[in-house]
Amino acid sequence: MSPDILELSVADSAGEMRRLMTELYPICRSITGDGVRRTLETIRQLVPLEIIEVPSGTPVFDWTVPNEWNIRDAFIKDPRGEKVVDFGEHNLHVVGYSVPVRQTLALDELQERLHSLPEQPDVIPYRTSYYNETWGFCLSHDRRNTLEEGEYEVVIDSSLEPGHLTYGEVVLPGESEAEILISCHVCHPSLANDNLSGLAVAVFLARALGAVERRYTYRFLFIPGTIGSITWLARNEENAQRIRAGLVAANLGDPGRFHYKRSRQGDAEIDRAVRVALRDAGEDHRVEDFVPFGYDERQYCSPGFDLAVGSLTRTPWGRYPEYHTSADNLDLVTDESLQGSLEMYLEVVKILEQNRRFRNLNPKCEPQLGKRGLYGSLGGGTEGRDQQLARLWVLNLSDGEHTLLDIAERSGMGFVRIAEAAEALVDADLLEEVEEGVRA
Ligand code: ZN
Repeated sequence: MSPDILELSVADSAGEMRRLMTELYPICRSITGDGVRRTLETIRQLVPLEIIEVPSGTPVFDWTVPNEWNIRDAFIKDPRGEKVVDFGEHNLHVVGYSVPVRQTLALDELQERLHSLPEQPDVIPYRTSYYNETWGFCLSHDRRNTLEEGEYEVVIDSSLEPGHLTYGEVVLPGESEAEILISCHVCHPSLANDNLSGLAVAVFLARALGAVERRYTYRFLFIPGTIGSITWLARNEENAQRIRAGLVAANLGDPGRFHYKRSRQGDAEIDRAVRVALRDAGEDHRVEDFVPFGYDERQYCSPGFDLAVGSLTRTPWGRYPEYHTSADNLDLVTDESLQGSLEMYLEVVKILEQNRRFRNLNPKCEPQLGKRGLYGSLGGGTEGRDQQLARLWVLNLSDGEHTLLDIAERSGMGFVRIAEAAEALVDADLLEEVEEGVRA
C-alpha cells in the first residue's frame, strides 16, 4: 500500500534539485532542437517522461510548428584574428534561432548585429528571434566597448530546417480522471531561475507524487514556452477539458517572496487553494490578478479554454535585474528558496487533494459533541479551543454546498485543522461526503 499523500514529505530536496539544475545549465536549449531533447532525456532518468515529437509545419491553431534550430559553434574574430565573442564560452552569446552566417564585416555593420545592456555593462543579455529569420550576437557592454575599428569575421554554424518540436509529459493517474496540471517551460539556454528552477520543482514534485496514492490525475508538461503550450492544447483539446486546476512553474529559486498570479477565472479552486496555502504557511507573499501576458498561462487561460491555471512564482519575470541575462545563473538560486518552493507546491496539492464537500447529518442545532468524545480537551489551552472551533465551523458550514476550502477561508482557520475536524466528524457519523462529478 502506497503511503498517504498527506504524509508525503519533500524535505531535503534542495541538493537534488540543484544537482539537476547544474547538469542542465550548460545545455543550449531553444524552443526546438537537440538541447531540448538532451534536457528531456535527463529528466526521463528521474520521472516517467514521455517525449513527444511534433513535425515542423504542423498547424497548431493560428500558429505553425517552426523549423528546428540547432547550433554547433559561433564566434566573432576581431581584426587581429582573436575571438572576441565565443559561443563556446556562453550559450547566451548567440541570438536564439540565428540563421547560419559566415562573413566578414566592418565594425559599424557588425554593431547592428550586437546586443548589450549599457545599464548593466557586465552581463550578457538573452535574446531570441524565433519567428523572424535573422542573426545576431549578445555580449556584455564592457566587452563591446573594447571593439576596435576594422574587419570582423563572424561565424554561426547553425541549422534551421524542417525537424520537430519536442516536449515531455508525465502523467500520474489518480482515482479520478480530473487532472491537476503543472506546466513549465524548457526552452531557455543557461538561465537558472527563469526556467531551470521551475523545471526542477516540477520534476521533484512529480517524483514525490509518483510514490503515493492520488485522488487526482497529475499531468506535468515540460514544453517550450508559448509554442509548446499552444501545440499541446491543439493536440489535447479533450484532455484539456479534464484539467481542474493548474499551475505554471517558473522563477522558483530566487530569494524573493512568493507571487501568485490568479487564473483568468480569478476565483477558481486553484486560486483559493494557493492563497490559503500561502496564508497558512505564514509566508510573505503577493497575489496579483490575471493579465494576458507572462508565461504559458496566457494560452491555458485563453478564452477558448479558460482553464483554472494560475502561476506560482517567487519574483515574477522581468522584476529582478538578473532576469534574461547571464546573471540569472546558479548563484542567483538559493537552496532555501528552491526547497521552500517545492514544499509550497506540495502544500497546494495537499489542499486540492483534501478539498471536499460534506453534509452535516445533524443540522438541527449543534450535535452533542461531548457524548461522542469530540468536545476537545478543556484544559483552557488554545489548542483545544481551536480544535473545538474548527469542528463547529465544519458542522455549521457543511450544508452540501461549502467546501473545506470555503470553510478555511471564512473561518480564517488553517486548512489542515479544518480538514482534521472534518475527518473526526465523519468518523463520528456526524458528516458525510457529498460526491461530485469530474469537474466541480
Ligand atoms: Zn524567460
